[in-house]
Amino acid sequence: MSKKTKSYIFHITIPSIQKFISDSRKIADLWAGSLMISYLMKELLKYVKKDYEAKPIYPVLQNDITVANITNVAIFLIEDKNKAEEVKIKLEQKFINLLENLAHFSINSFFQEKLEENSDIYDNNEIENYLYLAKYQIENTLKLFVEYEWLEYDKQINKNYKEVLENLADIINYRKKSQLPTKDYIENYKLIEKPNWKRWNSWEEFYENNLKKEIIEKKDKRKEIENLEYLQGVYRCSSCGEHTIIGATLEDWRGNKIWTSLWKNNPKMFNRGERLCGVCLTKRYFRKYMQEVEKVKDEDLGFPSTSEIGATLFKKSIIEIVKKEKLTLDNKFLKNLSKLKDLGNIKGNYVKKLNSDLDKINNEDKVNLIKGILNTDGKWFIEDVLKNPNDYEEAGLSKEEAKQRLYILKDVISYLEEYKKNNTDLENFKFKPSEYYAIIMIDGDSIGEKLSLINEEKEHENFSKTISKLSEKFKKIVERYYGALIYSGGDDVLALIPTEKALDCAYRIQGVFSRYLRYKFPDIHKKSQFSMSGALIYAYHKLPLSYVLNEVRKCEKKSKDEGKNRICLKYIKRSLSSAEVVLEWKDISKFKQLPVSKQFIYQIREFKNIFKFKDEYENLNNLKPFYKSGKSLKEIEEKIKDMQKNLILSFLTRKTIDNISSEDYFELIGSVDIFRKIFISDESKYIKVYDFEKIENLLLVKREMPNG
Ligand SMILES: [Zn+2]
Repeated sequence: MSKKTKSYIFHITIPSIQKFISDSRKIADLWAGSLMISYLMKELLKYVKKDYEAKPIYPVLQNDITVANITNVAIFLIEDKNKAEEVKIKLEQKFINLLENLAHFSINSFFQEKLEENSDIYDNNEIENYLYLAKYQIENTLKLFVEYEWLEYDKQINKNYKEVLENLADIINYRKKSQLPTKDYIENYKLIEKPNWKRWNSWEEFYENNLKKEIIEKKDKRKEIENLEYLQGVYRCSSCGEHTIIGATLEDWRGNKIWTSLWKNNPKMFNRGERLCGVCLTKRYFRKYMQEVEKVKDEDLGFPSTSEIGATLFKKSIIEIVKKEKLTLDNKFLKNLSKLKDLGNIKGNYVKKLNSDLDKINNEDKVNLIKGILNTDGKWFIEDVLKNPNDYEEAGLSKEEAKQRLYILKDVISYLEEYKKNNTDLENFKFKPSEYYAIIMIDGDSIGEKLSLINEEKEHENFSKTISKLSEKFKKIVERYYGALIYSGGDDVLALIPTEKALDCAYRIQGVFSRYLRYKFPDIHKKSQFSMSGALIYAYHKLPLSYVLNEVRKCEKKSKDEGKNRICLKYIKRSLSSAEVVLEWKDISKFKQLPVSKQFIYQIREFKNIFKFKDEYENLNNLKPFYKSGKSLKEIEEKIKDMQKNLILSFLTRKTIDNISSEDYFELIGSVDIFRKIFISDESKYIKVYDFEKIENLLLVKREMPNG
């Protein structure tokens, strides 16, 4: 024990945030949800530091509130022996205040939105009811747990630092699991006090004695029954499905009065069909909150759309040409570009790296032209979008205007395509936007196990500092690869990246993570290796975000389950067809070299059908009759492996000679050869020779992977 410590250790956490964050219709909601949790934690830590001189241990307090860079758990020390309970109470109060401020801000903003001329206006009483409802909804979604324990080293009568921390974590865990729904109210078009079940034996009785009066006051007695239906049928939020929507009334249980008007008047803020609850509205207005309440500059907030991520390298290519070629402003290419810009304004919500690419252009007119292109969402450069009325009408384009724009766009694309042909050395040059984006989720392996090897708060503090350094590094790495960061806690990253750059970016992040921590904490590394596991999904830009998020989480779990220190790669096409494969990081460079031909995939598929048995055991037993008696299953297994290897080769050779061109033949032989070396070697741990399903998936993923 280095120094004498006498203080309270506090463990605070906002539990179960995953659902809150990932219940998102738009990528901007996902970004806002992550940032909000990070913001709340920072506010709480700032508060205890200022008012109670708290000494943070984990995480390091970050001042930048524009990035989600701390997690939902914090540990700090309070030395004042008499203040512990006060700190706990004040923190819980502070948390409720913060939530109420957020709810207040979003409800006010919501009812100040410009509506159709003929829309009814809600009265103050109604708005106040919605405010109560929203506060209730958000306070039931986000909770704060605060636990503390006294720690004293010098007397040695108390438990040590590690034990105390573990104890606190146990209590918090217990509280998480034993949470009872504390709902005193029923969520409806407004908050309704829960019936007193002791007094009333049933819902019907409660209705007779309580609700009915209210309904009768407002409505004609004949419509009584109908009104009860209204009360039971208030719409649920289209984003989270958890809570009732804001804006419904006794007569208008869908909230049509306000929502349909908002879809028309503010399509950028609210998608057609959207009706949100208080929680989801708070996420939606969080950007505005940060701007108006926290005075953060608008360009430091927000997040690129999925289609914008897909168009990033396309935009980068345009910048490159403008930079390289001395085109005059009356050049047709630049003229065309000037006609394509300024369709909507995404206000800086493009990938930040594009700004630094822009720095090297000297001509002000050209810079303004490019800025216009950058601030036009990537989807308006996708040909299909301009052919689809549902899409182009959203931007207020008529059929004729969309057609005109498509015509110009095609001209731009063919110019770029031609340019690429003449400049073959260009890297990542994209003559049209990709309709796919990549999402990566990577997470440090067994962090709990590593923390349990730390015995003192000094070392714990060091660990926090290192993690916070890593968080900064990850942000920079993601930006360097033309990506946009949703969160980076230092041991976990969630980011959107152009497909061509994503695998390299993920690889780089895990490399930096394990090398840096190994260097800083060699003793821990000896006992429990530093590594990361994760998922990378290539997804069609219009797939529902919550679906993609769910898939990326499942994939991450798969790579953890298969032994950690690996990544699960998956693509999901527009048609929802997909394939996935889990690879160790060390095999990524080999995987990148693996050539794939269509024929090879077909043939693997045929093998799959030949050896289509339910499981390995059945597989072996079915094949047993083909072997002489006296052989063990183990021997047969070896024999089969051998047979299958030869089968692949002979089968391929025969087919190639008969059916395909010599060019394909070499590609085929090449892939078989590399394939054998990498994936059918005897040391190969994760692909069994007869696991054709996995081999097929590996090849499919490789085939769909964009070239980096
Ligand atoms: Zn909701």
